[in-house]
Amino acid sequence: MMQGRKLVLVTDLDNTLWDWFAAWHASFSAMLLALEEDSGVPRSVLESEIRALHQKHGTTEYSNLLSEVPSLIDAAGGVEPWQAFPRAVDLLRSERRRCTQLYPGVLDTLTKAKSAGISVVAYTESLAYWTMWRIKRTGLDGVIDVLYSAPDHDLPTGKKFEDMRSQPDSSYELDRTEHRHVPRGVLKPNAQVLLSILDSVGFKPDEAVYMGDSLMKDVAMAQQAHVTDVHARYGEVQQHPGYDLLRRVTHWTDEDVERERTHVGSNRPITATHTCQHEFAEVLPVLGLA
Ligand SMILES: [Mg+2]
Repeated sequence: MMQGRKLVLVTDLDNTLWDWFAAWHASFSAMLLALEEDSGVPRSVLESEIRALHQKHGTTEYSNLLSEVPSLIDAAGGVEPWQAFPRAVDLLRSERRRCTQLYPGVLDTLTKAKSAGISVVAYTESLAYWTMWRIKRTGLDGVIDVLYSAPDHDLPTGKKFEDMRSQPDSSYELDRTEHRHVPRGVLKPNAQVLLSILDSVGFKPDEAVYMGDSLMKDVAMAQQAHVTDVHARYGEVQQHPGYDLLRRVTHWTDEDVERERTHVGSNRPITATHTCQHEFAEVLPVLGLA
């Protein structure tokens, strides 16, 4: 049987289109150092209190973080921690902005796929707000046709996202990319989610290519759904020296951290059908484009 032409690319975002880890690490570690210096709270205490909050809220990008770290509340002496330690907040924001960039060739490749009539759909486990922010920041609003992200986290009673906003409302939503949510708490690899995404955008599994940087989450999910899988090998960062900081403060459980650590080691039980070794553009032949 002849393989059908590929009509849709479903892509992971973090560490597939941009280096999420690099931006997270640069911004979070700069903030942590400034907090340690300006509050006098030891780094190890900050890290463990922050991990507990990330786990409680189910994200490593929790918008209300500083206001809930117990030792910072104490050190701030009656004002809000983000007001007491403005240097840390500024560094978090400026480093995140500076380091959030597409990998080379991503925009060209997506543009080429779209002009060949291929739809571009994104599916990320990251939460709605920061995903939307990164899409705007990298210029992909409208390049991605439909985005599926997790919904945003909850805020403590009485706090509202609207009150934390400094920009007009329009800068908190995408103009041209349609933003839909997957159910809260649904994690990759879940073949059913990928299949229902394809169904809702009107494509069959054999018309799709799915691409992502995690063998355990992305490639495994595509294979279970019988969708052509592509591994964004260039996006793997688990061997990066800074990755241990993420392991120490992540919202993942200890078992999740360990599962990934052992998986990334020498024996890799999952083998990708196609691999983009060095850059995103290597996906073009898999889509049937030169
Ligand atoms: Mg990823």
